[in-house]
Amino acid sequence: MKSWAQVYIPPIDSDIPFPQLSLYNSATESNESLPKKSFYQMYVCGITPYDATHLGHAATYITFDLINRYLRATGAQVDFVQNITDIDDPLFERAKRDNVDWSELATSQIELFRGDMVDLHIIPPKDYIGVVEAIPMIIESISKIKTSAPTYVVDSDLYFEVHSDSDFGKRSHLSDPEMLEIFAQRGGDPSRVGKRDPLDVLLWLHQREGEPGWDSPFGKGRPGWHIECSAIALHYLDDGLDKQYSIDIQGGGSDLIFPHHEMSAAQSKAISGKEFARSYVHTGMIGLDGEKMSKSKGNLLFVSKMVNEGISPMAIRLALIAQHYSVDRMWTQSLLDDAVELLEKLTIALSREEVAPTKPVIVEMINALSNNLDTSTALEALSSWSDKTLEGSMGGEAGELSRAIDSLLGIAI
Ligand code: ZN
Repeated sequence: MKSWAQVYIPPIDSDIPFPQLSLYNSATESNESLPKKSFYQMYVCGITPYDATHLGHAATYITFDLINRYLRATGAQVDFVQNITDIDDPLFERAKRDNVDWSELATSQIELFRGDMVDLHIIPPKDYIGVVEAIPMIIESISKIKTSAPTYVVDSDLYFEVHSDSDFGKRSHLSDPEMLEIFAQRGGDPSRVGKRDPLDVLLWLHQREGEPGWDSPFGKGRPGWHIECSAIALHYLDDGLDKQYSIDIQGGGSDLIFPHHEMSAAQSKAISGKEFARSYVHTGMIGLDGEKMSKSKGNLLFVSKMVNEGISPMAIRLALIAQHYSVDRMWTQSLLDDAVELLEKLTIALSREEVAPTKPVIVEMINALSNNLDTSTALEALSSWSDKTLEGSMGGEAGELSRAIDSLLGIAI
């Protein structure tokens, strides 16, 4: 599927050292430095295109964009792939509710999403893949699982035995009762009669009335949610060179830790024989006015609507990185006001002929980002540099700092 427009990334002075990027790996529950490599593979789970792009989506994709930017700034290549879950129950349910064709609804939301990503300066993925176009590779992946791991059929639907993966559950650190509860809440079917284990996951669903279906060796139907990402990630990213991991980074919101990323990893391991990702990185949820932002509460804030109302996408980006990516946090008017204020202060300071020394603040920013994307420390450094400049400090080069802010934080001033 067509990705979105390329974002310009200015160069950073080559003599500035970059520490190895350390990220919190939720599978090992610790901060780990990524190994030094000349290229990295990153897969970030995309949207289900019925409701794009709310602030929670934006916060997630900005976070992985920061990782992408940091790794590129070190001189490495980043192969970044993202999917679009354009076959899934929530999409069909929304299309039915609104009496629209599901594929037209998906097309319109994907277009909206692309525009939002451009506005937010997110570097586009190398491959942006919809499930509809990935059906052949998904069928191939399921066929591989059928030969390497136990699967079975319940009323013409094909299931994978998740506990055949000896590491099942180790990535999400949940007990079986916890998994069962979350599985039921997030699209799973633990109580379906005929399943060998309530947590077993659907690989292929036979065609239901009013839903699309594709021919396959498992009957006419459609894939389950989790196998979509396993198949796309392995097809586009695993070059077979690394014998231990298929990819470096699996990313998404913390609501994907279970079941989505646990199930995708278990299936992927059945296909490739390797652990799926070196590092599982998850972003916190964005709430509004003290409440969780969700479609059921109807309190989602959409990027396109905010931008249409005149809010600068750069201010949205800055506000979303003002606090740490991994924590659940609230969106408030004062958060946005502070971001607008900092953006204005930086713009004024950077337009001065004489500015405070810039090398030290760039180094501070790089060091903070290398430490599990400590964006608040990076922004504090920029705020204090602006204050010093406005107080008359001299000796810096504004262009150098402006390029570094754009390159590393994705904020063009
Ligand atoms: Zn996914």
